[in-house]
Amino acid sequence: MVVGVFGVAGEEACSFILEGDVVTMDVARPNAEAVAVREGRIVAVGATPEVRAAIGDDAPVVALGGASVLPGFIDAHHHYCFAAFNRRTPDLHHQPDTPMEALLSRIEEVAGGGSQGWVRCQGYDPGKLRDRRPPRLDELDEACPDRPLFLRAYSGHEACLNSAGFAAMGWSADTPDPDHGVIVRDRRGRLTGEIVEAACYLAEARSRDALLEATEDAWLAEAEDHGRELLAHGITRVGDPGVPPSFDTLYLRAAREARLPLTVHRMPVGSASMLAPRFDDAPTGSGPGIAPVGPAKLFLDGGERCAMCFSTSQVVRAAAATLRRAIGGAGLAAVRAASQRPRFRRGPDGLLHQGVLFWDQDALDCALQRAAERGFQVAQHAVGNEAVSMGLNAIERAEGALDRLPGRPRLEHVMFLDPPLVRRIADVGAIAVVQPFFIYDIGDGEAEVPPPKPIEVMPLRHMLDAGVILAGSSDYPVSHFDVLSAVKAAATRRTRLEKTLEPDQAISVEDALRAYTQGSALALGVANNVGTISTGKRADLVVLSQNPLKTAAERVDEIKVLRTYLAGKLAFSRS
Ligand SMILES: [Zn+2]
Repeated sequence: MVVGVFGVAGEEACSFILEGDVVTMDVARPNAEAVAVREGRIVAVGATPEVRAAIGDDAPVVALGGASVLPGFIDAHHHYCFAAFNRRTPDLHHQPDTPMEALLSRIEEVAGGGSQGWVRCQGYDPGKLRDRRPPRLDELDEACPDRPLFLRAYSGHEACLNSAGFAAMGWSADTPDPDHGVIVRDRRGRLTGEIVEAACYLAEARSRDALLEATEDAWLAEAEDHGRELLAHGITRVGDPGVPPSFDTLYLRAAREARLPLTVHRMPVGSASMLAPRFDDAPTGSGPGIAPVGPAKLFLDGGERCAMCFSTSQVVRAAAATLRRAIGGAGLAAVRAASQRPRFRRGPDGLLHQGVLFWDQDALDCALQRAAERGFQVAQHAVGNEAVSMGLNAIERAEGALDRLPGRPRLEHVMFLDPPLVRRIADVGAIAVVQPFFIYDIGDGEAEVPPPKPIEVMPLRHMLDAGVILAGSSDYPVSHFDVLSAVKAAATRRTRLEKTLEPDQAISVEDALRAYTQGSALALGVANNVGTISTGKRADLVVLSQNPLKTAAERVDEIKVLRTYLAGKLAFSRS
């Protein structure tokens, strides 16, 4: 591992030169020997003599040795407000094949740690538990008998309540399902404990508000710590894709008290349920520079229950393929995993539909028009092919009204696409906000039960080839925020269990890094200011222990972040 040699501690000066391997992400000049910074801005990039001439001989020079400097990383979709909130609530992320008893005893431990009020924990994954199911109501009641329990799955879209939790929500077996949500019941009509989508969001908001009231100061402290952790990973800016009004208030307080270590774009959602969009406040780009209003978020489909549609023959061929894999060695696990997928419904269009859609097309078209009139860039959460298609219809029907906004329309996740959908994303000029670390994190499930062809899982290669702009993101806390690990996943398509998920969809390390710099800057409407090392831009920079473009893709995640600069100021330095 090469470690940079820093000759002069020049960073405290208002102007200095970084000299070393400069990877600009600017296609006009991809590489350089030096970059000059003055009063927070990049004033020259190029060969050492020209950079020195531009800034003057008295500017101190910081020699990077074998290290390289890149534009600061930008995570376009990172649930920062919930990440800070969750630092005070236990995380139950677990390894594949964890037995149910292990999860339940963790819950018991957590529930015993306090005396009253809601118990909240998150991060478990029913698909990764050995039993391949969420815990049952009777199991949850035994682990947490007295206090209301809200147990949120890793995706954030589904959760479980215990009996005290249902009572706190005022829900019983007779309560009708909320719009766009399910309070799951068994065949005999009894509660199972599971709550899905809108039901999950309602319980999330209720338990959060109860806890947040007492912990506003704690949230501010955690938001500071979380920001410092991101800076240590070279992340200089994030988009928070789901900020309810109570967190807006806290962000504004953090901004006033100068307690946000990096810029967070607040992407508004409604208060009682995050599924409702919020266009009533100030538009995208307004607000304090450290916490501006981001694009408005609209949820089009579910998470685990994302909206997919297929022809009958596609489904029959996929089922036959699963059976072949089972016989060919994948065993019954593959069949069992396939049977856990949401059921199909035949629609009036003759196609088979799966998952939940939260909008009908006309209402969504109106919502996008309204967003455009009020000056909001839009970010549509669309995981499944049916949701992506609906989002694209709405963008097409807005007929250019969205073009005047600060950033292009965004599509979040776009996990399951066929080639015509990829083409359409390129044609409307939407930005695909993708999470390459999902390939590692949850790719094994997709490898075990692939979607019916010609649908592909996160087809990064096809999107780039079609001319789609990719923006990199983590969806943290859904999966980890380490950018270099995500870049490795995008370039190798390697999963947690060492499988390779659709290897022909791999992209280069350079293209993946472009997604986490220039692409994310475009997704947040700030590409004129950040995202490349170019003259005139803000000096948000990351110094890496070696040049990732000269490192094998398999080893990119071993590179260390040595320094992070925000507007020319040293914000992190590895000791
Ligand atoms: Zn998300």
